[in-house]
Amino acid sequence: MNTTRRDFLKAAAALGLTSTQLLKAAETFAAEKLQTPDKLKSGHKIMPLPSGLKIKSLETFTHGHVSIVRITADDGSEGFGQISTYDADISATVFHRKIAPHALGTDPADIDSLVDTCIEANYKYPWSYVCRALSGLDTAIWDLLAKKQNKSVCELFGATPKPIVAYGSSMRRDITPKDEADRLLRLRDSHGYRAFKIRVGKVNGHDQDQWPGRTEELVPTVRKALGDDTVILVDGNSCYTPPKAIEVGRLLEANNIGHFEEPCPYWELEWTAQVSAALNVPVAGGEQDNDLAQWRRMIKIPAVDIVQPDILYLGGLARSLRVAAMAHDAGMPCVPHSANLAMVTLFTLHMLAIIPNAGPHIEFAIEPWPWQFGIFSPELKVKNGLVNFPSGPGWGVTVNQSWLRKATRQISK
Ligand SMILES: [Mg+2]
Repeated sequence: MNTTRRDFLKAAAALGLTSTQLLKAAETFAAEKLQTPDKLKSGHKIMPLPSGLKIKSLETFTHGHVSIVRITADDGSEGFGQISTYDADISATVFHRKIAPHALGTDPADIDSLVDTCIEANYKYPWSYVCRALSGLDTAIWDLLAKKQNKSVCELFGATPKPIVAYGSSMRRDITPKDEADRLLRLRDSHGYRAFKIRVGKVNGHDQDQWPGRTEELVPTVRKALGDDTVILVDGNSCYTPPKAIEVGRLLEANNIGHFEEPCPYWELEWTAQVSAALNVPVAGGEQDNDLAQWRRMIKIPAVDIVQPDILYLGGLARSLRVAAMAHDAGMPCVPHSANLAMVTLFTLHMLAIIPNAGPHIEFAIEPWPWQFGIFSPELKVKNGLVNFPSGPGWGVTVNQSWLRKATRQISK
C-alpha cells in the first residue's frame, strides 16, 4: 500500500466529505494502514545533514510586530528565519541575551541538540519568550541547511512543495454575524476557499459571549450563507467552562462544524478532555503550548482530537515535528496554528508537507493587517482555495531588502 495518509485525505477532500467525515475516515485509515517513519518517531533526533559548519553570527532585524533572523556560518553561507510575531523587540532582546550565546560556534546541523541546549540553559525562564526567540534560530538554521543542499526545507525530509488547501481564518469578534457571513461568502467566491474558521464566545470569556446571543446567531447564519459544501471551523479562544462548552458544542454539531478549537482555558487540560469526550465534533487545541511535556500529557489524556502546534510559539520546526510525531503515534491529525501572513504560514506549509498526519488544510489569515506584507517574496496567496508553495531552496522565499532596511539591526557574533 503506497498511498500516504496525505494522499488519502486529499482524495477524501475531493469527494466533498465534511471535515468530521474526513477525520473519522482518516482515523480509520491511520489505524489500518500507516507506519510511522523512523525519522519522525517521538523522541527521535532529527539530524538531516552533518554540515561541518560553525555558526559565526546571528542578526535580528526588528520592525513593528516582526523580527527576522539572519544566521551566517563560518563559510559565509546564510539563512533567514523569523522570531514569533508581536512584542518582537522583547523577543529579539531575549534572542541575543539568552539564545545566541549557546548557538555561536556550534554546528547548525546539530539542530535538535542545540534547541534542547537552549531550553535547558534557560530552565529558570521557561517557555514563552525563550521559545519565541528560539524559533528565530531554528527557522534560520533550516533555511541555511536546506540552501547548502540546494533543496527546499521540506525536501530535506523527502517531501515535495505543492499547493495546500487553505482555510480562511477570521480573527474578528467585533463583527456582526451577517457581516461575517457576507465577507466569507465574498472570499469564497473571489479566492475559492472551501473552508473557514469563525470565532465564538469571547477570549478568556468566563462563559460570556462577545455580546449576548452573538454565538447562537453567528454559527447558523454563516452555515446558511456558505451552504453545506463549505467546511466551517470554530474557535472558542479559552472561553468556556465544560458545561457551557458542551452546550455550545451541541450547537456546533447541529450545524456540522468541522472542529471546536480551544473551547476551555487552554491550560485546563482536564476541562478540555471532558468536552472532547462529551462531543462528537472534534476538539482542537495546543496553539499556546510550548512545553513538550505538557504536549505529551495533552495527547496522552487525550484532551484534544486534533493538535495545533504553532511553530514559532513552540521554538521552531524541530520541536514542532516532535509534537506532530507524538500526535501521529496517538493517531491524531495535526493542523498547526498559523494566524498571520508573516513567515509562520510559510514555515507551516513545509511542516504540513513533511508530516504524515497533516490535517486537510492550512490556517490562512484573512485579515488585511498591513504589517504582514512586504517582508518576503513571493508572497503567499490563495487562489482556487489553494496556497501557493514557494519552491526555491530553503524556505523558498527572498527576504526583501526594502523591509530589512527599515528594521532595527542587532548582531551577536
Ligand atoms: Mg485558535
